[in-house]
Amino acid sequence: MNKIVWFRYDLRLIDNDAFLNAIKNGNILPIFIFDKGYFKLEVSSSFHLKFIIESLKELDNILQKEFGTNLNIYYGDTLEILKKIIENFNINEVFSNKIFKNKYLNDLDLNLKNFFISKNVKWNFYNQFGIQLNHRERYKWSANWNKFINSRLTTGKSNCKFLFDQKLDNFDIIETNEIDSKFIQKGGRKHALDLLDSFLDSRSENYQQEMSSPLTGEKSCSRLSPHITYGNISLKEIYNKTKKKINTIESYSNKKSLLAFKSRLAWHCHFIQKLYDEPEIEFTNLNKAYDGLRENDFNEDYFLAWKEGKTGFPFVDACIRYLIKTGWINFRMRAMLVSFASYQLWLDWKKTSKHMAKLFTDYEPGIHYSQFQMQSGTTGINSIRIYNPIKQSFDQDVDGKFIRKWVPELRSIPDKLVHEPWKLTYLDQKGLGIEIGTDYPSPIVDNKISTKLAKDKIWNVKKSTKSKIISKDILNKHASLSLRR
Ligand SMILES: Cc1cc2nc3c(=O)[nH]c(=O)nc-3n(C[C@H](O)[C@H](O)[C@H](O)COP(=O)(O)OP(=O)(O)OC[C@H]3O[C@@H](n4cnc5c(N)ncnc54)[C@H](O)[C@@H]3O)c2cc1C
Repeated sequence: MNKIVWFRYDLRLIDNDAFLNAIKNGNILPIFIFDKGYFKLEVSSSFHLKFIIESLKELDNILQKEFGTNLNIYYGDTLEILKKIIENFNINEVFSNKIFKNKYLNDLDLNLKNFFISKNVKWNFYNQFGIQLNHRERYKWSANWNKFINSRLTTGKSNCKFLFDQKLDNFDIIETNEIDSKFIQKGGRKHALDLLDSFLDSRSENYQQEMSSPLTGEKSCSRLSPHITYGNISLKEIYNKTKKKINTIESYSNKKSLLAFKSRLAWHCHFIQKLYDEPEIEFTNLNKAYDGLRENDFNEDYFLAWKEGKTGFPFVDACIRYLIKTGWINFRMRAMLVSFASYQLWLDWKKTSKHMAKLFTDYEPGIHYSQFQMQSGTTGINSIRIYNPIKQSFDQDVDGKFIRKWVPELRSIPDKLVHEPWKLTYLDQKGLGIEIGTDYPSPIVDNKISTKLAKDKIWNVKKSTKSKIISKDILNKHASLSLRR
């Protein structure tokens, strides 16, 4: 029996059901495919590619060390590549973990399913997350998820022979843009394990208090998200170790922090379930009553200023510039950036979300589009929250340290005024050697006026009968009882 084990968003050997079931017997060709079309999509970026390449190099090393084989890495059109492999190696079965991604990959999988059927190849897939795959039963969702996450990590022995494709291209042909590697997260299982250990041992101590500021969140959040996205480590493994750690610690606040962290692992699957149940949320408002609200008002100049971190709101600009350099930012700041784009700048989330997908190394469509819609008020079922970027600046960057680091034009401005440099008088500006409007932009919108306008517009829809009726259906379909988000 000749089989393919196809690594996709599960770049590990431990707790990888597809791999462990494949290697029980037969001849196995372990593969990874860089899909050319996928990496040309507007949501793809070098942040993703670099992370994957590093993860693959390590996976290849582990396969070498533990099984004396190599990973076969291909680049091109997935269907064409699989056609060739199946023919050349006379493949009977394919093993992979189910993926829950965007329309491009859903369509690809549908084509592959038909192709495999036509070739009499059996496609075995496994569920690496707590997602209900058949009929969604919201009353059972949490119980099912708990059963999944508390189940044993899978391990297994190999009783197979590994195959290697001699005709492989060198995947170093893949081009990535220059990114300063000193700022970005490294891919690979070793980094994932190091992060988990350091988080559980010490970094999580003040997780709850420190996660909201970009200054402290960088260290106090787990930073596991890209590793979860690409599967360097399984969600179960993280949950398992966290649970064990919680049982050994005495400090009440540390315990509370780890409980808060643990519940976020359930949110991860809860959001992916939403996309699985309703893939259209990648492209359309969850609540159709909001259709047409922003779509025709898109201001390209505002979009450009937001993308480049030149809005004239120092904290917003600092967060964007930090994200551009690092490929990560904490939850609160992601929410503020989206809220600012969707409300004060009145930009349609369908365009801003695609841009940010590129910047987030951890881009996970299920979480991403649900959160974009929540922070833009288009779900109808979540409370409307319009972040005040000036308040966030004073709260999360009290003495302006973050702003000064990421918006160096403002380096000379004293603590209090660095949050609102437009308040500097002409003489102050002269004295500090900066001209607002020239060296650093004046605010592109008036915060109070734009917030008020946005609030009126969004509430107009929210209180409409149409929005309320649709919201009821959405709640019935998507809410998972006993999860607070
Ligand atoms: C607009 C917006 C877009 C987002 N897009 C993504 C995305 O593409 N990919 C992504 O992984 N997260 C996304 N998030 C959620 C969250 O911001 C990140 O998961 C988190 O910042 C990652 O850092 P961390 O691993 O240190 O998180 P931690 O705080 O250490 O959390 C641990 C893990 O829990 C999960 N998690 C944490 N917060 C959430 C949440 N609110 N919803 C669902 N799962 C959560 C993630 O898997 C995360 O890695 C988005 C949030 C917003 C507001």
